[in-house]
Amino acid sequence: MTERVYNFSAGPATLPLTVLEQARRDLVDYSGAGMSVLEMSHRSAPFDSIIKEAEADLRELLGIPANYKVLFLQGGASLQFTMVPMNLLPENRSADYIITGVWSQSAIKEAKKIGQARVAASTEDSNFSRIPAQEELQLDPAAVYAHFTSNNTIFGTEWRAEPEVGDVPLICDASSDFISRPLDITKYGLIYAGAQKNAGAAGVTIVIVRDDLLVQVPPGLPSLLDYRLLAEKESLYNTPPCFSIYIAGLVFKWLLNDIGGLASIQKMNEEKARLLYDAIDGTDFYRGHSEPASRSLMNVTFRLPSEELEKLFAKEATTERLDGLKGHRSVGGIRASIYNAFPKEGVVKLVEFMREFERKHG
Ligand code: PMP
Repeated sequence: MTERVYNFSAGPATLPLTVLEQARRDLVDYSGAGMSVLEMSHRSAPFDSIIKEAEADLRELLGIPANYKVLFLQGGASLQFTMVPMNLLPENRSADYIITGVWSQSAIKEAKKIGQARVAASTEDSNFSRIPAQEELQLDPAAVYAHFTSNNTIFGTEWRAEPEVGDVPLICDASSDFISRPLDITKYGLIYAGAQKNAGAAGVTIVIVRDDLLVQVPPGLPSLLDYRLLAEKESLYNTPPCFSIYIAGLVFKWLLNDIGGLASIQKMNEEKARLLYDAIDGTDFYRGHSEPASRSLMNVTFRLPSEELEKLFAKEATTERLDGLKGHRSVGGIRASIYNAFPKEGVVKLVEFMREFERKHG
């Protein structure tokens, strides 16, 4: 067998080894069913348990109150850019968007195709190197909702606490820091996240939505884009992404049983990120992209003195089995994505590599 690399990919991203091993054990015969989850009817008893347990475990992890629905959908987080306004932004109303990177720009772009969306704040003038302060938010108290991106995967910034939006329902794209720390779900109207970073494999998008928002969903939406219908059918209106839901379920169990919940994973994430940011701050050779107060615990972005050195860094790192460090094309530089399942040893190894690289090329 080939040796596994330290996979710093921004997503799809590294999964807990125990999850992969469990999936391998289950692959040919899931729990005595005589078939794999890949082959199993989504209406079968074993799959019914898989999806119900996944939901129950996620509810336990995040402490999701009973007046919120949990949906397992398809189309990625990108489809939520459309579904949120389609379901929640009526013609005569306006929605607020806080723009902190490429993904929030995509979200408002899609919302504008559906209705009125306004920018409540943007940090584009600082190349999205920071999260805006509360005082910078120009919120519309009459907005039908306010949307923000809790972690900016490309730029490497993350909100420390939710923006205060008063009584306006808060909507969050949490794709890249979902279940990386405890959340007070009651602060949110709706949270969505593609699974392929912290919650498993690509193919399933998790939506957590407060009941009262579903009441306002306009009639006549295309069925597969209608939150209310999908909630009524408990995500089984049509064939769901069965295998991705099963993997997400295994990840939730790993968090609950092996890690000990979200407060524990948060501590681990803080420790990993600190090691890396300390290495960046300890020298002038490396420069962090994001302002210290806005730094992401999930995606650590930094620059080297030249683009040539950045290319060489990513190339040499790969030969040391440190994979996927090349930054996103819109920021350049290096990006180390260190989601929940990324092991601390990999961060330690990267820090050693950084020291050695600076010694050779600094
Ligand atoms: N939002 C954020 C914060 C993301 O990081 C991504 C993907 N990297 C997306 C949305 C888009 O997700 P998807 O590819 O699942 O549509």
